[in-house]
Formats: sequence, C-alpha cells, structure tokens
Amino acid sequence: MAGEPQADCLFCKIVAGEVPATVVRETPTTVAFRDINPQAPTHVLVIPKGHYPDAASLATGAPELAADVLREAGEVAAGEALVSREGGPGTGYRVVFNTGSGAGQTVFHAHAHVLGGRGLEWPPG
Ligand code: AMP
Ligand code: ZN
Repeated sequence: MAGEPQADCLFCKIVAGEVPATVVRETPTTVAFRDINPQAPTHVLVIPKGHYPDAASLATGAPELAADVLREAGEVAAGEALVSREGGPGTGYRVVFNTGSGAGQTVFHAHAHVLGGRGLEWPPG
C-alpha cells in the first residue's frame, strides 16, 4: 500500500533506526539527515517517513506530506544559515529531486536534496 515501509528500502531503514544517519531535523512526518557522500558544504536529504518511490508519486499520493518535505527543506536551509530567518537573502540553496535512474536517482524512496554553501551553477549538470 502507498506509504507503507518497504523491507528492501535503505531510507525506510533509516526511518526505522535500523541504519544509522546523522539526523539534523525530525518531525512527525519527515526526517532530514546529512548525505553520506556530500556534493556541497551543506548536503542534507529530507525524506517523508512514508515510502513513496519518487517526488511525483509522493505529491500525487500524499500532497500534505509532499508539502511537509518542502517546508522542511526550507527549515534545513535556514538552520544551516543558507537563508536568513529574518528574510535576508543569505547565499541561497537548491532543492533537487532526481527522478529516474537516467537522472541519477539511486534510492527509490522520495527525497529532497538540499544543497548549498558554495556557488551553484545554472544550468545544473
Ligand atoms: P539519489 O542519487 O538522488 O537517489 O540520492 C541518493 C543519495 O543518498 C545520494 O546522494 C547518496 O550519497 C545518499 N546516500 C546513500 N546511502 C546513504 C546513507 N546510508 N546515509 C546518507 N545518505 C546516503
Ligand atoms: Zn522507503
């Protein structure tokens, strides 16, 4: 069933505490933890606790949970001082949802990459 834990899913195991992670924020519906192979000075993954294979299926199956993930991405960025809570610009950050193996998705449990702390090129690679 949509949202139920999957036995073979790495991020479901992180949610369950079966695989360790450096957790930076947790809410009743989400977990944010540092990427094990960071691509920027700040590289945090925000995941829903429920299992959805990618961002689109999350948004379709559980729109409020998708909103929780996006809001938490902003909270992580503020916590890492990439944006100012007072409304100043900060250095900014990028939220990425790789979708499909051709786009670099390797873990099929929806996750937002929050990247910042260095110059971010546009267009991305
Ligand atoms: P993606 O390639 O978009 O599916 O992103 C998956 C991300 O998960 C990659 O950036 C990996 O470095 C990261 N990752 C894989 N295993 C772990 C782990 N045990 N703890 C934290 N991050 C991980
Ligand atoms: Zn999962």
